[in-house]
Amino acid sequence: MNTSSLPRIAVLATGGTIAGSAGDASKTAGYKAGVVGVDKLLDAVPALGTVARIHAEQIASIDSKDMSVALWTALASRVNELLAQDDIDGVVVTHGTDTLEETAYLLHLTVKHAKPVVLTAAMRPSTALSADGPLNLLNAVTVAASKDAAGKGVLVAFNNQIHCARDVTKTSTYAVDAFRSPETGVLGFVQDGRVEFQRTVVRPHTAASEFSVTDEWPMVEIVASYADASRVMVDALVAAGVRGIVVAGTGNGSMHATLTQALADAVRQGVAVVRASRVGSGHVMRNGAANDDALGSVSAGTLNAYKARVLLMLALASGVGDLQRVFDAY
Ligand code: ASP
Repeated sequence: MNTSSLPRIAVLATGGTIAGSAGDASKTAGYKAGVVGVDKLLDAVPALGTVARIHAEQIASIDSKDMSVALWTALASRVNELLAQDDIDGVVVTHGTDTLEETAYLLHLTVKHAKPVVLTAAMRPSTALSADGPLNLLNAVTVAASKDAAGKGVLVAFNNQIHCARDVTKTSTYAVDAFRSPETGVLGFVQDGRVEFQRTVVRPHTAASEFSVTDEWPMVEIVASYADASRVMVDALVAAGVRGIVVAGTGNGSMHATLTQALADAVRQGVAVVRASRVGSGHVMRNGAANDDALGSVSAGTLNAYKARVLLMLALASGVGDLQRVFDAY
C-alpha cells in the first residue's frame, strides 16, 4: 500500500486510563493511569498505518483528575502550532476520561483552525482484557483523517460515537459507553473505517470563537446547592479572591435561600456568578428558578457546571462585559 498520500495526523498523548497499566489483565478498576507511553499505545494498533501517517508527541503523563490550567495552556498552544503546519492534517489528543469534557470544551473555544481535532480516551486500562483504548484510538485517528470532520469544532470519538466537545459528558464510573451528549445526542458514528455525521454544530467554536488560550487564568470555583447548604464555602471563596463562582444548583439552577444570599453578597463584591444545574441534563433558564436580574447572576443554559467554569474563566480572562451574551452564544 502506498501510504505517502495518507493524511498526516498528530497524536498528542496526555495520559489517562488509555495509557493505564495494571499487574493483572482482569483488573479494570485497580490500575495506574498515564504510565504507558504514546509509542506503545500506537504499537498496539497496527491498523493505524492504513489510516494515517502519525506524528506522535507525549505532552504529559497524568491521571486527568490532576489536569491543570497550565497544562491546558501548553496543550492548546501546541495544538494551534501543529495545525498551522501544512504537513499536519488533524490532531488527536489521548486523555483521561475524568476531565476529558473540560479539556475538549477548552480546545473547542481556543483552537483557531478548521482542521479536525479529536479527543479520545478509554474506560479500561491498556493491560485489561477487552481494553477499549486501541479501538477508540483507531476510530479517533479515522475521524481526524476524515475531511467530513473539518470545521465541526473539537470532537470526541468514543465507543464508536462522535460527540461535540460542547455537549459531551462522562455519565458512568465504569461502563465502556460512559460518554453521552444529553439533550443533543451524538453528532455521528465511526465504525470499521466509515465516518458518518448525522447533524452539525451550530454554536461558534474554534476560528469563530472570540476566546484565545491564556496563561493568566482567573480563579473560578464551583459550589453546589443541596438541603441546608450553608454560605461557608462562598464566603471563603470571596475571602480568597475568587473572580467567578459557578453554582451547580438544584433542578433548573435553583439555590438554597442561604446560598442565594451569600451569592448576592458575592456579586456585590464584584464576583461573577453563573447558575448551572447539578441534574445532568436540561437547561437552566435565565430568570427561571432564580431571579438573575435581581441577583446579578448569569444562567448557564445547557452547559454543565464544569464546562460553564471553562467558559467563565475564558470570558473573565478576555474582559467580557456582558457575560449572559457569552453564555447565550457559546
Ligand atoms: N482517572 C482516569 C483519568 O481520567 C480515568 C480514565 O481515564 O478513564 O485519567
